[in-house]
Amino acid sequence: MKAQYQNSGLLIVISGPSGVGKGTVCKHLRKKMPQLVYSVSVTTRAPRKGEKDRVNYFFKTVQEFKQMIREGQLIEWAQYVGNYYGTPREFVERTLKDGHDVILEIDVQGALQVKKAYPNAVFIFLLPPTTDELRKRIEHRGTESQKVLNQRLQAAAKEYEFLDRYDYVVINDEVEQACERIQSIIVAEHLRADRIILVNQ
Ligand code: 5GP
Repeated sequence: MKAQYQNSGLLIVISGPSGVGKGTVCKHLRKKMPQLVYSVSVTTRAPRKGEKDRVNYFFKTVQEFKQMIREGQLIEWAQYVGNYYGTPREFVERTLKDGHDVILEIDVQGALQVKKAYPNAVFIFLLPPTTDELRKRIEHRGTESQKVLNQRLQAAAKEYEFLDRYDYVVINDEVEQACERIQSIIVAEHLRADRIILVNQ
């Protein structure tokens, strides 16, 4: 008998309300686990100050986005507070096939679609320690108008309803600790019995 781990990479979905710190946590995670590959999403949202096309997002018009949907170029897509967001299919599938783990930082609506299409993916929900803290973090970021901030807080309240659809919940009270928890999840997920291949020799 020969034991080996499966060749294809893990698809790891990280969701959590706007402002919870997904970006900051993932930035730390990149340093700790440089082998992880991050999918760059497509969006119709306008770039924030400092955001770069192809690095933070592929910024598209609504028309271009709808064409990508029609052509089946997206694994999942969702409308979030007035803008479209989606995950490019070709890059994710090729990277997984090449044996690399891929991280998707997407909202709950998108995560539920991924769950249908990729039932073996790993679903992690990042929670703020309190709603007050979430508001403070979005305010501190200073990128959203009061109206959009309130819409994002409302969206967050809806997202919590889907917590039980996720495999893991990580509370982001402290970035380093949240990062270590996600790291532990990824390491353990690779060792699951159903991901081991036993070959008779
Ligand atoms: P933001 O505008 O703050 O960059 O993102 C707003 C929300 O959209 C966040 O919850 C973020 O995780 C989510 N998001 C980013 N990319 C995607 C994507 O490709 N698909 C989906 N469904 N949500 C996304």
